[in-house]
Amino acid sequence: MTTKWRIYCTQPGDEGWHSIWSDTAPTTCPNDPAHSVNPNSVNVVAVEREQFRVSPSFASISKSNNFQRVATFEYDPVFHGELRRVKLISNIDDVAGNYDLELYNVSTRTTLSTNNFANSNPDNIQTTSAISPALANKSLIEVNVKKSAGHPKSQVSIFEIIVYGDR
Ligand SMILES: [Zn+2]
Repeated sequence: MTTKWRIYCTQPGDEGWHSIWSDTAPTTCPNDPAHSVNPNSVNVVAVEREQFRVSPSFASISKSNNFQRVATFEYDPVFHGELRRVKLISNIDDVAGNYDLELYNVSTRTTLSTNNFANSNPDNIQTTSAISPALANKSLIEVNVKKSAGHPKSQVSIFEIIVYGDR
């Protein structure tokens, strides 16, 4: 879901441009696949790109149960476009372990996304699900991690956080 497309719906009552994030070009109206559309109207309006990287303030988490804040960053949609997701260079030193990553908007006190990661990616680059709806304003975002399962002494290490927007 790294490309934002738009397509022109010609259905009375819904006529106009409608957009959707997808890996492939849409062939139907995002609001209702039964709507009539102009198939020649499809075009790209935005692409997901790396905006900046954040170094964690805490590198390792060895306790479970509670989220621990590993980084905080400010995100301004005016400069970085729609906040899409983060990628995480990280690992857990336990083949049977896994951990949860939460993106939390401190400004509005809402959880943006929660994802569970295991140590199965050979590159140890984990990608969160897409954030929806988009941030309306400049926001302070917390990156919180907790160990979800694994040996009591296992550690989660966060090396770098890569923030993706559509600007
Ligand atoms: Zn429509």
